[in-house]
Amino acid sequence: MENGRILIVYDNRTTSDDLTPGWGFSALIELRERRILFDTGADGQTLMANMGRLKAVPSMIDTVFLSHSHGDHTGGIEEVLAAGGQLEVYLGHSFSDRLKTAVRGAGAKLHEVTRANHLFGTVYTTGELGLGLKEQSLIIDTEKGLVVITGCAHPGIVTIAKAATEQLSRPIDLLFGGFHLGGISRGKVRSIITSLQELGVSRAGPCHCTGGSAIALFEEVYKESFVSVGVGTTIKF
Ligand SMILES: [Zn+2]
Ligand SMILES: [Zn+2]
Repeated sequence: MENGRILIVYDNRTTSDDLTPGWGFSALIELRERRILFDTGADGQTLMANMGRLKAVPSMIDTVFLSHSHGDHTGGIEEVLAAGGQLEVYLGHSFSDRLKTAVRGAGAKLHEVTRANHLFGTVYTTGELGLGLKEQSLIIDTEKGLVVITGCAHPGIVTIAKAATEQLSRPIDLLFGGFHLGGISRGKVRSIITSLQELGVSRAGPCHCTGGSAIALFEEVYKESFVSVGVGTTIKF
C-alpha cells in the first residue's frame, strides 16, 4: 500500500525535455497528512514552472523544510511563500535573521530547528549537523525503513546517514539528495559507499551536487538499488 510519494521538482539534471534543470534542489513530499516542500531550488520561477508541468499545485503545500541557507536551496522561498497556503516553515536556527523575518512577514509559522527532533506524523529532522556550515536533513519513517533526504550533505553524507540511523534505531531504506562528492577521488568515494552499505543503506539516489563521476560509481556499486534522480522523478513508498 502506498503511504506517500516524493516528486523531484528541482535538480541539476532532468528526466524530460519539458522540464527545466538548474543548479539546486527541491523535492515535494506528499504524505497522507502533509505536503512538504524540501528546499526550494535556486530560482522561484523555474521551480514554479517545473511544478506546473508536473501538475503539482503550490497552494497545496502546507510545510516547507529548508536544509541549509545556500541560495541554490533557498532561492525560491519568496515565490513559495507567495504561492503556498497557510505554511509552516522549518529552518535551521543558524539561518540569517533576514530570511527568518521574510518568512514571518509572509504570515508563515516559523520553526527554528537546532537538535534532532520529531516534527509530526512519520517525519523527523536530524537537527542541524556540521561544525562549519550547519545543515539539517529530513527523515521519513516508512514500513521498509527510513527515507532520508539531504540538501548538499555539507556535514558529510556518512555523518548524516549515521545520525539518522541512530536517531530512529532503524536502517535507511533510501538515502537521496545532494551528497557533495565532486572533486573527491574514486577511492575515497568508494570507501564512503562502503561505509553507507555497512550502515545498512539499502538504496541510494545521489543527485544535485554529488558530482557526475561519484553518481556513476554509486550506480556501479548499488546496481538495481541505485535510484536515478532528476527533475520529474517520482519515488513511492
Ligand atoms: Zn550547499
Ligand atoms: Zn546545493
